[in-house]
Amino acid sequence: MRLDGKMAIVTGAASGFGAGIARKFVAEGAQVMVVDLNHDGAMAMAEELGEGSFGHAANVADGAQVAEVVGTAKDVFGGVDILVNNAGVTHLPMPMEEVSEEDFDRVFAVNCKSIYLFARALVPHMKERGSGAILNVSSTAGLSPRPNLNWYNSSKGWVNTATKAMAVELAPRGVRVNAINPVAGETPLLASFMGEDTPEVRAKFLSTIPLGRFSTPEDMGNAAAFLCSDEASMITGVCMEVDGGRCI
Ligand code: NAD
Repeated sequence: MRLDGKMAIVTGAASGFGAGIARKFVAEGAQVMVVDLNHDGAMAMAEELGEGSFGHAANVADGAQVAEVVGTAKDVFGGVDILVNNAGVTHLPMPMEEVSEEDFDRVFAVNCKSIYLFARALVPHMKERGSGAILNVSSTAGLSPRPNLNWYNSSKGWVNTATKAMAVELAPRGVRVNAINPVAGETPLLASFMGEDTPEVRAKFLSTIPLGRFSTPEDMGNAAAFLCSDEASMITGVCMEVDGGRCI
């Protein structure tokens, strides 16, 4: 029960890594607000998580909606200990000059601007309490980019720098900020990274992961639970690979 009594907001928690993080948090004693664009998915996940957790449909790239998420979390939980900025999207693999402006804007709004919007809404609360843990779900794409995912890669490089910048500024206020850098994982988003989900493309991706398997939502839940727990009280500004050795 490493997160006993902690109140957490997890974005994009209706699916994939976010769902794995929410499940692990609850298993460790936390209560989770499941925030997702997908209303039905958020409600279903909250029901699965059980008493104390609840779902809330919102677009993390919209400032007014993010403010409402934080206001609701404070009202329902009485305070927020943990924020996981997990919701993220990609453009399909293609040469960099062919990505549409609309897709570029969507990737940066969901992957990057949302972190600013949540900081604007929640950091004053964490400063006031003198404590808090923020975890950004970045990607190995931000450290060791693959061709044809150029603007997605860049957005995750931004997330890694934002994590360190937030960490150094908030450390004197008792708020820790870390990131995890997952390698390609078994979630609905994987097909978008691969372009096409065929045995050949899977084999190509797997050949770059020394431990020889894709990552899972459980892997992310385990890493997230540690980094957001008091066991990691001396750890801030870390962007931790959860990547089976891909970035070695
Ligand atoms: P996913 O598609 O399974 O889940 C993402 C969730 O975010 C979905 O439930 C979706 O509805 C929600 N979402 C999308 N846009 C949103 C918005 N604007 N507002 C609120 N919710 C929104 O994807 P996943 O693979 O679990 O990805 C989670 C995070 O992990 C992302 O940040 C992604 O970039 C990162 N990541 C994924 C992989 C991978 O291979 N799956 C690898 C590295 C990093």
